[in-house]
Amino acid sequence: METLNFQLVVIGAGPGGYAAAFRAADLGLKVLLIDKHNELGGVCLNRGCIPSKALLHLAKVIEDAESVSELGVKFNAPNIDVAKIQKWKSSVISKLNSGIASMAASRNVDRITGTCSFIDKNSLSIETDSGLKKIIFENCIIATGSRPAKIPGLPKDPRVVNSTGALSLKEIPNKMLVIGGGYIGLEMGSVYASLGSKIIVAEFMHQLLAGADQDLVKPLFNKLSHQFESILTSTKVIKISPTDNGIDVSFEKNNGETFKENFDIVLVSVGRKPNTEKLELSNMGIHVDERGFIPVNKNQQTTISNIYAIGDVTGDPMLAHKATHEGKVAAEYISGDKSATFEPMAIPAVIFTDPEIAWAGKTESELKDAGIPYTKGEFPWMASGRSISLNRFEGKTKILSHKDTGKIIGVGMVGPNAGDLIGEAMLAIEMGADAEDVGLTIHPHPSLTETFANAAEIIEGTITDLYIPKK
Ligand code: FAD
Repeated sequence: METLNFQLVVIGAGPGGYAAAFRAADLGLKVLLIDKHNELGGVCLNRGCIPSKALLHLAKVIEDAESVSELGVKFNAPNIDVAKIQKWKSSVISKLNSGIASMAASRNVDRITGTCSFIDKNSLSIETDSGLKKIIFENCIIATGSRPAKIPGLPKDPRVVNSTGALSLKEIPNKMLVIGGGYIGLEMGSVYASLGSKIIVAEFMHQLLAGADQDLVKPLFNKLSHQFESILTSTKVIKISPTDNGIDVSFEKNNGETFKENFDIVLVSVGRKPNTEKLELSNMGIHVDERGFIPVNKNQQTTISNIYAIGDVTGDPMLAHKATHEGKVAAEYISGDKSATFEPMAIPAVIFTDPEIAWAGKTESELKDAGIPYTKGEFPWMASGRSISLNRFEGKTKILSHKDTGKIIGVGMVGPNAGDLIGEAMLAIEMGADAEDVGLTIHPHPSLTETFANAAEIIEGTITDLYIPKK
């Protein structure tokens, strides 16, 4: 068996793994990057963030075109060519794939395509197309990410798909069930609704997007209630039966009422599970937690000091930008910078539907539950010149600042482009800004970014774009 030696081995070439490998190579280490897929970029690039956002872009264009008909500009109904859409989506992915591959080559990062498992804490084996290889390493970063969770008793049928399948449908389904009211289900439901499908969402909980403040979810819920055929909350899927004429699905509401419907496609989007099983972690004495995640300290180190873990495999929030930052911390720490720690003030979350929902730091419900005193400044986009000129009235920006310190500890937004706007809120939180800092920062007019300053001015009592009578 071929045996190779490296200072650092990174398993998994997603946004966590490739960032870690590149940072470590830039810091002078001899690095091997392993992935079971030949294309780099992991779930995010190949089966997640990027293809879903490409399809959401088309959905937005279709909806925008429809929405201007009442403003005096009428387009014909779109002509959908699914094969062409898929080809375009694949071209977006492969442009980025080759960009990452060429950056790996420029940095002299070695690559092997294959599936890994640990032999012990300084060696692992890789099953490749050309046989088994043994790697001896000083340090290793596990960045194996996650995969879609399944529901018990799920039948194997090409019409029952997960997010990966939903991103690659060859036809637009007439009627599609989305099981799970999380962000992946709502994003994919929005795509297919715009492309002409009747969408039904079934969510076990009594609300959608359970982690978000529900006042931010409300405008999206209102929009989707019109756009989707139905949104069934407090509803459990109890049976999925493929038939010659579609998929029969039985539901049970939380009052015990049951009913059945037939669908062309069922998308199961009920969360994600970490990829740890194949790694044989027990060969090194690493134990996963009750949900299968690898516990790490603030340097991303596992209980074995030369083995690190980053990204989805370490737990929530399972987001690409968290994986990337954790990857850089691990690479820097391994390269000798003992001050490198993953201790962010906040990690932003975005739902890329239309309207978009985005938040950073504490949500209002978290503050209430923890009994943390806060002041809220909430600016309705109905009073934003930019939003009105976009013919959009449902958005809002809210800032939550600590009552005692005045520092901004949470920001929530809903509206078009909220996912881009939240970047500024992240900077404010990381820099320890208070509402005065934000309110006194001159924002360009007319722009949606002004709503962030306006929300701050409400806290400060200096707002002139709204009239708020003194109490
Ligand atoms: P991954 O990207 O999961 O990569 C892990 C890699 O490890 C994979 O390439 C896998 O092949 C490889 N691997 C696994 N096991 C082994 C093994 N034993 N040997 C060798 N290789 C192995 N996040 C966002 O931040 N924004 C979004 O908009 C967003 N949208 C999403 C949309 C969808 C539909 C999905 C499914 C996810 C989305 N995510 C989004 C989540 C995001 O994709 C993940 O958080 C991110 O990819 C995690 O990165 P990672 O580096 O931890 O692992």
